[in-house]
Amino acid sequence: NTTPRIVVLGAGYAGMMTTKKLMKYLSPEEAEIVLVNKHNYHYQTTWLHEVAAGTINQNQVRIMIRDIISPNRVRLIYDTVEEIVTDEKIVKLENSEIPYDYLVISLGFETNTFGIKGMDEHAFFIESFDQCQLIREHIEYQFANYKNHPEADESSLTILVGGGGFTGIEFIGELVERIPNLCRKYDIERKKAKIINVEAAPSILPSFDPDLVQYAKKSLQDRGAEIMEGTRIQECTEEGFIVGDNNELIKAGTIVWTGGVTGNSVLGKSGFELTKGKVTVNGDLRAPGYENVFILGDCAWVMNKEDNRPYPPTAQAAMQHAITCAKNIRALLHNGTLEEFTFHDKGTVASLGVTDGMGTVFNGKKLYGKTAAAMKKVVDDRYLFLLGGPHLLLKKGKIRPF
Ligand code: FAD
Ligand code: NAD
Repeated sequence: NTTPRIVVLGAGYAGMMTTKKLMKYLSPEEAEIVLVNKHNYHYQTTWLHEVAAGTINQNQVRIMIRDIISPNRVRLIYDTVEEIVTDEKIVKLENSEIPYDYLVISLGFETNTFGIKGMDEHAFFIESFDQCQLIREHIEYQFANYKNHPEADESSLTILVGGGGFTGIEFIGELVERIPNLCRKYDIERKKAKIINVEAAPSILPSFDPDLVQYAKKSLQDRGAEIMEGTRIQECTEEGFIVGDNNELIKAGTIVWTGGVTGNSVLGKSGFELTKGKVTVNGDLRAPGYENVFILGDCAWVMNKEDNRPYPPTAQAAMQHAITCAKNIRALLHNGTLEEFTFHDKGTVASLGVTDGMGTVFNGKKLYGKTAAAMKKVVDDRYLFLLGGPHLLLKKGKIRPF
């Protein structure tokens, strides 16, 4: 069989979109396509804070891969990638191995704890669908346990979130809606259950628009969250975070770290040259020194030539990488010219729970409150539409017509 084989690793935003585009651009005679993913489902990483807080039905967040990508056209392998041996053009999986002619690495992010003592052992991460289900169950268990053990320490009801970037803040936005419901369900006074965010920088959402940051902060505080800014987390213990210069202990029953992300550790294990855990790719999204390896999404630093800084790792960017990557693989197969990636920034919108939000859209216009929350849902639903058309939108979409 001389048909070239394209292997896509990871069925997240970048991997799913690349596979869809390759299916469109290439006939089965031109290339065999293989998609490898840990699970038989794709999940929406951008909705994980809702899974962790328990404010969304988990089945709305995941989509069976074969419902979107036909197994008749794409070979689907559900297995874990362990290492890529580029010299031999082989990907080692937990249970087998697969040779490739062209490789797309889109394995997403891992949480970065920056070596903070105790963080790996004692904190939860908003990192995968499975971990977020565990956070949801853990929070509810704390409430049920407290109710059954009146002697229990009230701090077991506290939820501590380390890092006030977008993930931490969106998670707090869900918690301020979820926790009052849990208090009612378990008949616990609302003021006993604290929701605390700890951010090292002088302000949450560092370097984001100050008006929008103020808006977010007030919205969350008005609904009962405590926000500690300019407070560095020094250590994480079984009991909570040790913070600030005075090494103060903040106790909690649920500890979640959202202090930063880095590229998938498979990159390092496979010998790619890393900058802060990711590969700085060429303008055509190939790994430097490789003719046939593309790296996309949260595994890649894609440089903005205007300011010589990398673009932030977002789903928006990952989906755009996918289109350039699929076109460039087609170009390689047809001896064509590869294109350079250009990012089209459509803005940044964050949810602050179901009915509140804030952000900017492509023309720089600021959005607040219900308008921003609605815009966030439009962005979420647009992705579903691009991925699976009207059928998927109706099945899993956030805006319900009926
Ligand atoms: P992912 O979408 O994370 O996909 C990686 C895939 O690889 C997963 O399916 C995973 O299971 C699989 N995988 C991982 N390791 C292995 C392995 N070893 N073997 C096999 N499979 C593996 N960005 C935005 O633009 N807008 C937002 O509103 C937004 N909100 C966010 C909210 C949260 C809570 C978080 C955490 C992030 C948010 N982001 C947002 C960032 C965005 O989610 C990421 O930039 C995006 O998911 C990156 O896409 P990806 O394809 O690189 O990785
Ligand atoms: P992040 O790196 O953006 O934020 C981490 C935060 O943790 C920072 O504010 C940092 O100052 C803080 N921090 C780090 N060390 C600390 C310490 N020791 N003590 C206290 N605070 C500490 O990470 P993230 O929020 O996970 O976001 C990751 C990426 O995903 C970003 O590119 C973000 O833009 C994107 N994202 C986007 C959205 C959205 O568009 N709505 C939502 C979530 C995530």
